[in-house]
Amino acid sequence: MRIVGALMTRPSIFISLVVTSAITLMPASAQETPAQTASPAISENVSSFERAAGGNDPGYNSSAATADDVKPFDPAAATQVWLDSVPRNQREKSNAYFEGGYWLILWDFVLAAAISVLLLTSRFSTRLRDFSERVTKVRNVQVACYAIPYLLLVYALSFLLNLYENFFREHQYGLATQSFAPWFREQLLGLALTLVGGTLLLVVLYAVFRRAPRTWWIWGTVVMIIFSGTLVLIAPVYIEPLFNTYKPLTDPKIRDPILAMARANEIPVKQVFEVDASRQTTRVSANVSGLLGTTRVALNDNLLKQCTLPEIRAVMAHEMGHYVLNHGAKLLTNLGIFILIGFALARILFDVAIKRWGEKWGVRGISDPAGLPLLALILSTLLFIATPFLNTVVRITEREADAFGINTSREPDGMAKVALKLGVYRKLDPTPLEEFIFFDHPSGRARIRMAMDWKAANLPAGESHASESRSATH
Ligand SMILES: [Zn+2]
Repeated sequence: MRIVGALMTRPSIFISLVVTSAITLMPASAQETPAQTASPAISENVSSFERAAGGNDPGYNSSAATADDVKPFDPAAATQVWLDSVPRNQREKSNAYFEGGYWLILWDFVLAAAISVLLLTSRFSTRLRDFSERVTKVRNVQVACYAIPYLLLVYALSFLLNLYENFFREHQYGLATQSFAPWFREQLLGLALTLVGGTLLLVVLYAVFRRAPRTWWIWGTVVMIIFSGTLVLIAPVYIEPLFNTYKPLTDPKIRDPILAMARANEIPVKQVFEVDASRQTTRVSANVSGLLGTTRVALNDNLLKQCTLPEIRAVMAHEMGHYVLNHGAKLLTNLGIFILIGFALARILFDVAIKRWGEKWGVRGISDPAGLPLLALILSTLLFIATPFLNTVVRITEREADAFGINTSREPDGMAKVALKLGVYRKLDPTPLEEFIFFDHPSGRARIRMAMDWKAANLPAGESHASESRSATH
């Protein structure tokens, strides 16, 4: 769901209504394992992959070798050896990038809240509503006449922060590959899609508000779930191709081992793809997107260029975990619960605010489009407060995918190396509280520890049993 994420999260601008659905769905398809081109490409051959695939690979390479010398294999010590292999300056850079992201969550919220307050107290919102009522008598068209200028204005007012956050800052950390023109072109494309999707959503929501002024929070939740589900369903077919090209994997050295894992897990082969993410970013990533029949597992070209086969297998097995464990539908269900709670609280808070300031702001009630900034203010506040809980829900599914991934790929060292590459962009070793609040994926430390625990358990592979039983019968 990278693209939907790109559309909606970036500008942090769009009304919380749209954002609530898209932002939280973004991790459903879960951007995986980002890293930077700068990270040294480690070249390994297929034979080392085969050894690693056996599950217990002694002396895999330099840093792991030290860990393997510890006898018996100590997963805690091995984890520390992996973490210590990252140069200090690289770690400081990634910590700075990731910790800066904590503040951006705050600034995005503060800006969104300030815009809402400005539109209400200046009575711009009321004037826009009056304008829409002069244009037409048809209620649905009035909502559209309000929504389009509103969405454009919010985009414009958030543009500077958006520009810093998603263009300059990404370049500053060496994560972006686009010059301004293509970046801005994609921004406009995203804005156009948001105008269409956002307006459609608001027209339907306000129809609900008019018909059910007391129980809108229940029916509104249903609308949001249908909208989000549809978005996820159509994204791989109609939205993602607008930004990137997806094509089936061609290199048999990569394709065949991946397809073997897919076959072993009943994943239809036609759903494993390669995407040209290097158009936008240097990050190594893979993702699952879509729902039901449109679900698709894709790895990006940075991953293909920068990672060895064991690492690629580790990442792809993780993504297959999302597919097999049906995480899209599960996250959508969880999202529905969050929206229901959010809308229930919004129903109460909105009425309280209207009683107190409604006359001053010129907002008549929930079915009045002039109240949209108030609704956006309430929902973005709730979304901000819910950050740790949303992250935790997503992080738990990511951990499930990790567990599936390590058991399918049997690449503990590959998984550890990818976790380190991801560490170029995500803080490797946070405090538990930090991880709880800010991490929508397990930290590098947690992932490497899982891999090393798996390695220490030294599970038998099928072949050894087969040969034992064969020799027993002889
Ligand atoms: Zn994932």
